[in-house]
Amino acid sequence: MTTLRIAGGAVYDPANGIEGDARDICIADGRVVADVPAGTPTLDARGMVVMPGGVDIHSHVAGSSVNLARRLLPEDHGRDPVPAPDLVDDSLARRSGSGGVVPSTFTTGYRYAGLGYTTVFDAAVAPVMARLAHAELEDTPIVDAGFFVLLGNDEYLLRQIAQGERSRARDYVAWVLGAAGGYAAKIVNPGGVELWKRGVRDRTGLDTPVGSPRVTPRAILETIVKAAEVLRLPHPAHIHCNGLGIPGNVQTTLDSMRAVSGRRAHFTHLQFHSYADSGDGGWRSGAREVIDYLNTHAEISGDVGQVMFEPAVTLTADSPVEYLLYKSSGRKWVNVDIELETGCGVVPYEYRDTAAVAALQWAIGLELFLLSRDPWRLVLSTDHPNGGSFMSYPELIRLLMDRSYRDDRLKRVNQKLLAGSALLDGIAREYSLSEIAIVTRAGPARLLGLTGKGHLGIGADADVTVYARDEDVSRMFATPRYVVKGGVLVVEEGQIRRAPAGRRLQVQPGYDERVVPNLREFFEQYSSVSFENYGR
Ligand SMILES: [Zn+2]
Repeated sequence: MTTLRIAGGAVYDPANGIEGDARDICIADGRVVADVPAGTPTLDARGMVVMPGGVDIHSHVAGSSVNLARRLLPEDHGRDPVPAPDLVDDSLARRSGSGGVVPSTFTTGYRYAGLGYTTVFDAAVAPVMARLAHAELEDTPIVDAGFFVLLGNDEYLLRQIAQGERSRARDYVAWVLGAAGGYAAKIVNPGGVELWKRGVRDRTGLDTPVGSPRVTPRAILETIVKAAEVLRLPHPAHIHCNGLGIPGNVQTTLDSMRAVSGRRAHFTHLQFHSYADSGDGGWRSGAREVIDYLNTHAEISGDVGQVMFEPAVTLTADSPVEYLLYKSSGRKWVNVDIELETGCGVVPYEYRDTAAVAALQWAIGLELFLLSRDPWRLVLSTDHPNGGSFMSYPELIRLLMDRSYRDDRLKRVNQKLLAGSALLDGIAREYSLSEIAIVTRAGPARLLGLTGKGHLGIGADADVTVYARDEDVSRMFATPRYVVKGGVLVVEEGQIRRAPAGRRLQVQPGYDERVVPNLREFFEQYSSVSFENYGR
């Protein structure tokens, strides 16, 4: 379908200042256009809500850790077999698969599209595993997708910092993003994963030396954040701070934000980094301190990493976290970092509302959302599947939009650690449809520097979601009536009907060629992968 008119819906397009006005959205050749000829096929959207396609800034859908999780959880797949969709166009591949918390590739594409999401980023791919991640994304239909490349625990970069070679470090960041076909630089527990691999079991602070006294988490953050800025990457450094999941980590989170003060930086799954220490090593909410900092520093952005009460799978490059989680939960565990420039661990998990820590985590995520003053800079995520599946976004949206539902839910969770939580004071705020459109599409698109996504202005990618209004907003957001991706009507009457391939989103920054012979020498001396075989 090359031309289409979506007629008369209430359009929520916050990037263009449109808040529920009844309008037509016209589409030709995959883009939004000013008008289409009379007689063009028309979707009657009167009485419905029209938004740009959803943009997920932080998810885990491709790469070695996701595949390990799939292999670790056959029982999860067995519970949720997914038949191939009934497509109207059978020239395109269609596949059955499995769902659960970590769906198979095809099911991932179908389910994101079925939820009205048309763009997804995988937040953590080790450069050496980039080929695998690309192969998986090629196998994930409909959504446009890219990934962030893991840096900050890799030998080559740490050596450059130790030698004071900051500009070579920058050239390396540019080279490795291009070689891996990545979109942005991701930092996970800077230096802490490398120390853990060397046998250190203590917590890594911002100034803990990593081998050389010149190499500290602070120096790693500064180097990569500045590199992303100088290279003019569309998305700034995407940072998972040290100390994830540990009581008292709020101090490390704030120190990390201050360390890069004045520069653009994105701090991810902030919920997992907003735990204060109750004084006796116990937990309490540190959400207010984190959100106060974010609210008053326009250069910083974040996503929440909301925890939902449901089965989850923690999968991360932060091996020390997975080690602690395995020790405390006794669940099955896999940890693989052989030849990775980072770590990689997986532990299945379940957040229960009867558990004190899970209830606190849930409350902290909601505090961050509800105390945030700028929805453009604090956007929605569950860190799928770490805090819960992306399939729980509609339920999360209801918690944000419906105070009585939220207050009711709050009464039924374990209260033990909630003292001091702003949620207990009764936060009246309810997100509007416009604010939901910001935190799920316009905001992430802007933070990612995706000029064609997250809005419906002339020239935008024709990614559009049409929802039938429903008193229960979780039902409304779970089952869009129509989804258009790149001008193709992929969901009709709530069913996947077409499944075109998505596009890859990647960058190719320039760099000083003199880094190449130095890298080649490093590979020859230390790597089991040849330099020629490393990039794509
Ligand atoms: Zn993540």
